[in-house]
Amino acid sequence: MPPDFSQGSHHILAVDDSPDNLFLIETILDHPSYQITCVASGQEALAVVEQSPPDVILLDVMMPGLDGYAVTARIRQNSSLPYIPILLITAHDQSSLVQGLDAGADEFIRKPVDVNELKARVRSLLRLKRSIDAQAHMIRQRDDFVARLTHDLRTPLVAANRMLKLCQDDAFGPIPVEAKQAAGNIIDNNNNLLNMVNTLLEVYRHEAGHKSLTVSSVNLVELAEAVVQELAPVAAEKQVDCLMGPTAESTPPTPPSVFDIEGDYLELRRVVTNLVGNAIKFTDQGRVTVTVGAGPELPPAIQAEIASAKADTWVWVAVADTGIGITPEDQAKIFQWFRQGNQARAGHGLGLHLAQRIAKLHGGAIGVTSAVGQGSCFTLYLPAVTPAEITTESS
Ligand code: ADP
Repeated sequence: MPPDFSQGSHHILAVDDSPDNLFLIETILDHPSYQITCVASGQEALAVVEQSPPDVILLDVMMPGLDGYAVTARIRQNSSLPYIPILLITAHDQSSLVQGLDAGADEFIRKPVDVNELKARVRSLLRLKRSIDAQAHMIRQRDDFVARLTHDLRTPLVAANRMLKLCQDDAFGPIPVEAKQAAGNIIDNNNNLLNMVNTLLEVYRHEAGHKSLTVSSVNLVELAEAVVQELAPVAAEKQVDCLMGPTAESTPPTPPSVFDIEGDYLELRRVVTNLVGNAIKFTDQGRVTVTVGAGPELPPAIQAEIASAKADTWVWVAVADTGIGITPEDQAKIFQWFRQGNQARAGHGLGLHLAQRIAKLHGGAIGVTSAVGQGSCFTLYLPAVTPAEITTESS
């Protein structure tokens, strides 16, 4: 059966320390749509891959110097490369299929190679490559689209709000109170939309891996106090108290520096603002209490969330409310994006998803405990660093 690729040629890299084997591969795969590069060592293969990534690699396992497993592992570790399917070629009894697949190879073929099997496997890997490339292309297009959409939505919304504000201020002559109220409602709705658009843009920045942290030493008590101060008036409008709880002290008393972590102040403030904002939104009476603490232990659920939970000390910011609470089923899904709980309050279901991503980028995680009708407690856990380990931007 001829290769099923009509458009363009496919670059195949064959790697084997035996010239006879390379000649055999070239002969079997002789076809106008295949352009084959042959090299005799793992080092040469890596150089070719760096310079012009092929569409498929046929890789001998046993080679002097870098063997096929090592070459496979190096290629998979290089995140700047596109996905390149790798077919390991091995003598019958010498190598481990498990080791090869675990290193990141896609297929295995035994020597002496069966002519039809080799051709079929190459075709199959080229199909795999094509579908992965198409997927990557779609993701790039989606990200471009979201970036454009969010930008194009933000600009007119901000402009409309400016104009509405001028109307409210009678800049174009006096207008009735009802009209001012209507303008105020439109501004609020526009702000909600702006908020969603901004959060969506942030989520995509994280998804696309374009998010880098600006790291400095952050004192979580000071950060939490700043958020409480900012949002307490919003809570007061609903007759809900929003206040700091007692800073959790251990024995001997916790030195203030234990609440310092290494992180991105603005991003962490976004997380705590989201948690406190939600607590206020979902609480109609009672209070929202923000407590900061530190200790060596993580709750088991959080330990499972953080794959490499190895810090000696963890600093946590707990936001407890006396609000509507969250059912266990909803607790399991509210960190997924666009997922909201079963309640009829305005929102877009992106805030917690973004907050969890930011927490994880800092080596931490957010956990929740809640009882319906009694309230919820969202806790952000972050690994602490001792002052000596903190590398501030200014230092
Ligand atoms: P949004 O609040 O915009 O819907 P979030 O991602 O911030 O989006 O929250 C997702 C969902 O989690 C909310 O819709 C709500 O159902 C639930 N939730 C979050 N915080 C609380 C809270 N403090 N009390 C009750 N439910 C909450």
